[in-house]
Amino acid sequence: MGKVYIVGAGPGDPELVTVKGLRLIQNADVILHDRLVPKELLKTAKPGALVVDVGKSPGGVGPSQEEINKMLLSYAARYELVVRLHGGDPLVFGRGFEECRYLVERGVPCEFVPGITSGLAAPAKYFIPPVLRGVASSVALVTGREDPSKGVRQVDFKKLATAVDTIIIYMGASAAKEIAEELMAGGLPPDTPVAVIESAYFEGESFKTTTLGALSSVRNPAIIVVGKVVERGSRLRGASCR
Ligand code: SAH
Repeated sequence: MGKVYIVGAGPGDPELVTVKGLRLIQNADVILHDRLVPKELLKTAKPGALVVDVGKSPGGVGPSQEEINKMLLSYAARYELVVRLHGGDPLVFGRGFEECRYLVERGVPCEFVPGITSGLAAPAKYFIPPVLRGVASSVALVTGREDPSKGVRQVDFKKLATAVDTIIIYMGASAAKEIAEELMAGGLPPDTPVAVIESAYFEGESFKTTTLGALSSVRNPAIIVVGKVVERGSRLRGASCR
C-alpha cells in the first residue's frame, strides 16, 4: 500500500509551489492533477511517472469526484508514492478533504501539503493585501457558485456585505453581477472598490479595477476582491510602477 500526498501546486506560477510539494512531484510514481496546475511543474515528474489529468473545465467533461477517489485508491494499491495535485491550496475550494477522508476510510495513509491559494496570490500580484492595519481587519474567502442541487447561492452575500472588511470571491465569474447586487442590497455602497483578476499567472491574464455598481462581465477563472484594500493596493502599485 502506497501513500497519497494531497498537494497544493500554488496559483499558477511554477515557482510558487512549496519545496516539499516540488520534491513530491519530482519523486511521485503517479500524479493526478487539476486543470489549473502549471505545466512546468508536471514536466519535473520523474521519467516513467504516470501523469493523469483529472481536471474539468467549467461545465465541461472530466472524471467525477467519485471516479477521482476510486483512481486514487487503485493507484495507492499499486504504487508507493501518489500525488494528488490541486491548483492553489487543496483545502480551499478543492476537494482535498473529501479525497483524504475517502482514502483514510479505506486504510490508505494520506497527508496534506498546503499551497498558496489563488485568492491570496492573485491580489498580491497586484499589490492588494487581504487585510491592512487601519483599513481592513477581517477577510472572507467565499465561493460565488450556486449549489446546483438547491438553485441558491451557498453564501448569503447580503449578510456578508457588512460583516467583513474584505471579501475574496472564488468561482464568481458567471454570477458577478448578481453577487454585486446582493452585496449592495446588504449595505455596501455602489462605489465600493472591486478588483477582478482573471487567469492569474496563466495565458490571457488580466487585471482590472472597478466598483460594485459597475461590475459586469467577468471571465472564468477569476478572483474578485471587494473592499477598501483594492484602492490602497492600486495606489501603491501605481506609485511603484512609476
Ligand atoms: N484550490 C484552488 C481553488 C479551486 S476553485 C485555490 O486554492 O486557488 C477554482 C476557482 O479558483 C476558480 O474558479 C477561480 O475563482 C479561482 N482560481 C484558481 N486559480 C486561479 C487563477 N490562476 N487565476 C484566477 N482565479 C483562479
